[in-house]
Amino acid sequence: MLSDARYAIALAGAGISVESGIRPFRGKGGLWTEKGEPPMDGYLRFMRDPASGWREMLARRAAPGGDEFSKSLAAAEPNAAHRAMERLEELGVLRHVISQNIDDLHFRAGSVSVTEIHGNRTKVRCVECGARWVWDEFLALAAAQESHSTDRDPTNIAEMGGVMVRVPPECPQCAGIVKSDVVMFGEPIPQEFLESCQREAELADCCLIVGTSATVYPAAAFPEMVLRAGGTIVDVNTDENPFTPYASAVLRGPAGELLPPVVKAIERLRS
Ligand SMILES: [Zn+2]
Repeated sequence: MLSDARYAIALAGAGISVESGIRPFRGKGGLWTEKGEPPMDGYLRFMRDPASGWREMLARRAAPGGDEFSKSLAAAEPNAAHRAMERLEELGVLRHVISQNIDDLHFRAGSVSVTEIHGNRTKVRCVECGARWVWDEFLALAAAQESHSTDRDPTNIAEMGGVMVRVPPECPQCAGIVKSDVVMFGEPIPQEFLESCQREAELADCCLIVGTSATVYPAAAFPEMVLRAGGTIVDVNTDENPFTPYASAVLRGPAGELLPPVVKAIERLRS
């Protein structure tokens, strides 16, 4: 089915990251299931006082190791599922991955066509113009900004790894507010992310659902679009989900075990 698909896409979720040692937020063993959901107004609080928001972010980055979750994120490596999906892209089977994960692991595995609908932890983003930078790259820009500034008010300056940074730093392109690329609670998902997912879902005639309960919207809307347009669903999950009854193929188990044989089979078909 995958090999015959004209344009297959995937919706990927926390289940893939779990196989790289990252705890999920929701569900069994979830961080939020255990500790409660974080405050729902994170974005509003940040936008009300971006300088304090930046101080908190910089302090968290500077803290040795950080909390348990940050440590597992920092130590995580792409696993067999990420590598299989990268190979499917290389084979021309998988055209796009819509990832709900923030861990950068699809890109690190070598996938190119990926939309991280909830953002990427290694990047920052301007809320006005949508420009994105890798953290370290942006901090260098922010430090240069600060070194040219004549404002010596210490409440506007923070230290990061020995460099002075203006807080909040301005977007070098539009002077807008820059924040972590990770979509916060209460923050609208950036329009360009949604548009890219929508475009891909409209093109698709097959959607893999990998390691996700596919219950969080708007992410769950994209396999729905594929299904409504007459496309097929391939469900690769440890558990049942709302798409299981509509799936043309169901693979039950960890994606890291199930996807590599699928890749092998397609390679055989194509050789
Ligand atoms: Zn900007």
